[in-house]
Amino acid sequence: MGELPPVISSIPTSRKVVFLTIDDGWEQDPGFARQVLKKRIPITVFAMRDAVEARGPIDPAATGGRFVGAGGWSYFQDLGVPIENHTLTHPNMRTLGFDAQKAEICGASRAIKRRMGVRPLLFRPPFGNYNTDTLRAAKECGIRVVLLWTASVQPGGKIAYQTPDKKLHAGDILLLHFRPNLSRDFRVLVNKIKRRGFALGNLDAYLDEAMR
Ligand SMILES: [Zn+2]
Repeated sequence: MGELPPVISSIPTSRKVVFLTIDDGWEQDPGFARQVLKKRIPITVFAMRDAVEARGPIDPAATGGRFVGAGGWSYFQDLGVPIENHTLTHPNMRTLGFDAQKAEICGASRAIKRRMGVRPLLFRPPFGNYNTDTLRAAKECGIRVVLLWTASVQPGGKIAYQTPDKKLHAGDILLLHFRPNLSRDFRVLVNKIKRRGFALGNLDAYLDEAMR
């Protein structure tokens, strides 16, 4: 069967660098896009089709936003950053069999390839839930790495650490969402990271190095 894709939740590096990843895609605030473009901030997006296309029930955390589904896929094209795979409908993968998992992952990869011109190499399972079938399905859909995260970022730019020392570490992967107030929260977060002496890394470049 060959090797399954590795599951990674931080990047092995001794450099003082952390990585920003942003999930789903409900709230498509043009102000946030301008911020990323102007400051050339490296981010990686894990796009979920139903969020990007504003289909079905909106995530409660994204309701009330002014820009839910405002730009569709073109919003993400204009960001000019890697758009990776986060399923079609955001299921808990552990509740699905192999075929249904594969339909979610391959379907999302096809949608992204069609709109972005590039096939995703990274997959992030919703809620971080996966099993061996997820890894097998991801491999068959051309995924190289299953990427989880080290810490999530709460409203206000507050980092919810999962480590007891409550500090940033070299190689940490931070998770944010396309939610209302992302623009403001992101500014707070980026300033905080810089004040602590960390740079923002390009995830693809560091992954290439780590996988070599
Ligand atoms: Zn998600």
